[in-house]
Amino acid sequence: MRPAVVVRLLLLYALVRGVPAGAQTFPTDDPVIKSIWKEAMDSTELPVLAHELFDVIGPRLTGTPQMENAQAWIVKNYRSWGIDARTEKYGTWRGWKRGICHIDLLEPRVRTLDGTMLAWSPGTRKGGITARAVVFPDLADSLAFRRWIPTVKGKFVLLSQPQVSGRPEKNWEEFGRKGALDTLKGRKEQVRLNWEKRIVTTGFKVDTLASLLEDAGAAGVLLNTWTGGWGTDRVFGTRTKKMPVLDLSLEDYNLLFRLADAGDEHVLRVVAESEFTGPQPAFNTIGMIRGSEKPEEYVILSAHLDSWDAASGATDNGTGTLLMMETMRILKKCYPRPRRTILVGHWGSEEQGLNGSRAFVLDHPEIVRGVQVLFNQDNGTGRIERISGGGFLNAGEFLGRWFSRIPSEVTQDVRITLPGMPAGGGSDNAPFAAAGVPGLGLGSNPWDYFTYTWHTNRDTYDKLVFDELKGNAVLTACLVYLASEEPLLVDREKRALPVDQKTGKPREWPKVGEPDRKGPQ
Ligand SMILES: [Zn+2]
Repeated sequence: MRPAVVVRLLLLYALVRGVPAGAQTFPTDDPVIKSIWKEAMDSTELPVLAHELFDVIGPRLTGTPQMENAQAWIVKNYRSWGIDARTEKYGTWRGWKRGICHIDLLEPRVRTLDGTMLAWSPGTRKGGITARAVVFPDLADSLAFRRWIPTVKGKFVLLSQPQVSGRPEKNWEEFGRKGALDTLKGRKEQVRLNWEKRIVTTGFKVDTLASLLEDAGAAGVLLNTWTGGWGTDRVFGTRTKKMPVLDLSLEDYNLLFRLADAGDEHVLRVVAESEFTGPQPAFNTIGMIRGSEKPEEYVILSAHLDSWDAASGATDNGTGTLLMMETMRILKKCYPRPRRTILVGHWGSEEQGLNGSRAFVLDHPEIVRGVQVLFNQDNGTGRIERISGGGFLNAGEFLGRWFSRIPSEVTQDVRITLPGMPAGGGSDNAPFAAAGVPGLGLGSNPWDYFTYTWHTNRDTYDKLVFDELKGNAVLTACLVYLASEEPLLVDREKRALPVDQKTGKPREWPKVGEPDRKGPQ
């Protein structure tokens, strides 16, 4: 059993003195922390940065012009604030440009459908494709599947399971009769099992099926990847080479599914444009405020810049990106001569396997050696509520000391888990933790992240909660300032890891994974 000690840090200072809610409660007279608070609260740049990044530049899919634009925009902003910044190439990725995408039902009635191409999808031929759709069938065996495959030629294939209800389960729970939710869940399970059987029967994995359908001349594949929340789909990428793959909203996917399944005459037209642009350079974007006393030691801010592209990547990881930019801006103003070097990494291609941050760790042993601590953020707009010691035995001592000096408005909800476990691969602190660096994640309160914004078509500017982001900027800037001033380097002694239930042996500290520096060919 691991002796996880969970400490709720309650700062006892000013709140008990009856300061009005929302007022700042400084535990000490530290002028830097006071000026950080003032700059973050009174002169925030967050709404402007958010508008420029999410509305004008847009999502930042690896290999797209928008990712390049975002990198250039970050460098330009840092330089305008007097901060050194540059892009650093670590590899290449398959280049792609998203064009327009219109999906219309023409028969039995006209309706413009709500959907879009997956990332890296081929487009349709000019003028689009007009065709009917077929449901992926329930067949007896793989032989029957082989006989069926040629029949898809010229048709769109509905490859996702239909949904029993477009209402979230919470809605059934609130308004349904007693037992209605259980009945719904039973029906959902039946449909899921039936669909799983359809796929297993073919003898192929679902990933392979799209390319088999492509080879058989299907007009396209239609998917629905509903998250379980109103109107929300998770939209990823495809590797098909000439056949478009599209995601349709639950409502429109199910409409098409019912028409096709019932044998109703129907016609669908898809006009989708996209362009493969050949291998494109892949970059990390790095900013730096050089240390005045210990320039070879680093406090690192970390957040991936890339995103999926069905919306704007606002909370994954736009908010982490903006938090780190705003923190750097504030620090340059309030703490322009840091003791240690403050480095910010806006990593590329996190979504395809932490490629940018892995490459940086492998390419910069001289920096990794000198890291004091790294703070990564990658889970949305909420106030920071969780920090783990990351498996470093004595990190808690440092965190406790720093937290005791930060205004309670931004620390009172933070739970610190000690000693915690090393970051396991969910985000860019993982390669650093694997290299033995205290790479800590700043965990946000979720605001329905997994149902509504993570990798979804609804991850847009309007989901941001600016008051929370401002508080996060105070907390992060204070942590970086205190880590930079800290006399000691954070101790790197690692905890003994608990026994893996599967193997019966103690788990091993993670290793730095190899980045993919080329992407799919
Ligand atoms: Zn992310």
